[in-house]
Amino acid sequence: MHAALTDGFGRLHDSLRISVTDRCNIRCFYCMPEDAGNFQPREEILTFEEIERVVRVAAGLGVNKLRITGGEPLLRRDLPVLIAKLAAVPGIADLALTTNGVLLEKLAAPLRQAGLSRLNIHLDTLDRERFRQITRRDDFEKVMRGIDAACAAGFRSVKINAVAVKNLVEPDIVPLARFGRERGIEIRYIEFMPLDSQSLWDRSKVLLMDTMLAMLTREIGPLTAVPDQDPRAPATEFRFNDGNGRVGFVASVSKPFCLNCNRLRLTADGHLRNCLFAIGETPVKHLLRDGSPDEAIAIAIRANVREKWIGHQINTAGFVPPPRPMYSIGG
Ligand code: SAM
Ligand code: SF4
Repeated sequence: MHAALTDGFGRLHDSLRISVTDRCNIRCFYCMPEDAGNFQPREEILTFEEIERVVRVAAGLGVNKLRITGGEPLLRRDLPVLIAKLAAVPGIADLALTTNGVLLEKLAAPLRQAGLSRLNIHLDTLDRERFRQITRRDDFEKVMRGIDAACAAGFRSVKINAVAVKNLVEPDIVPLARFGRERGIEIRYIEFMPLDSQSLWDRSKVLLMDTMLAMLTREIGPLTAVPDQDPRAPATEFRFNDGNGRVGFVASVSKPFCLNCNRLRLTADGHLRNCLFAIGETPVKHLLRDGSPDEAIAIAIRANVREKWIGHQINTAGFVPPPRPMYSIGG
């Protein structure tokens, strides 16, 4: 085993997010433009074998957690085959996936059988019309069936990711929490971040964690911060004092958690990114295709982690959005 992956600020990196495609079957306005079309050509996208090789090398450097994302990862053909390959890599202890749920009804069970342990399903609203307004598609019922299938498939955890956009989803915050309480699903509210491709973001459009917490307290009941949380997990978690259910907040805007970050990313087209908001990237695809040894990939991973900045600058006037939108980075 090589020495651990530590950046210049002493942060240990053991978590890798892997995007398997930049395509998507819906068009959430805060992520993709309606007419998105300049996707990466197929030959630019890493093969399953190439992804597995990066994971093997990363696991040798101490990475033990993986999350598969996109674009919409369930669009990638034969995804359970990749999951099985990654689940078998020595050292990988946790394998999770984030999906919009549209194709989940059929895929939940095969993904579970292939070794996927945790699932996050993206759903901002229980209102079909607002779902259509946000995603520009009428797939609400499919996502609900996907959630049912996920709950039946026996995952270690199923969570819902809800993006919190001000003046839009306020009516959804409480119904989602109630739904989660009924179904034993944790709702994770994610503050709207400046990662959309159309520069729609500004701070006034973010529904902040404290506002949502106050809404839940008023409408459902008091909550208490979950004790002894993993300080490196992106969400701050609370449980309802009546003992029924919990919620989490990814408060990247109001309470940045960069100082505890343990994550790096691999884009679908083979670039390493050390931050969602990073400007620079480290290419690895050429190393995977020109016969370079594993050590060259390890050097690239180490270099990418070493160059990591102290944190994103969302809350400063000098903030520069990343050159790729969310769907192309892998959220
Ligand atoms: N398509 C899958 C999905 O929607 O879950 C996986 C990729 S998506 C880019 C990953 C997550 O990013 C989504 O669950 C969504 O909650 C989040 N997301 C997308 N755009 C965002 C934005 N501008 N701000 C905050 N979160 C965002
Ligand atoms: Fe697709 Fe996910 Fe982006 Fe929505 S957030 S457009 S589902 S990649």
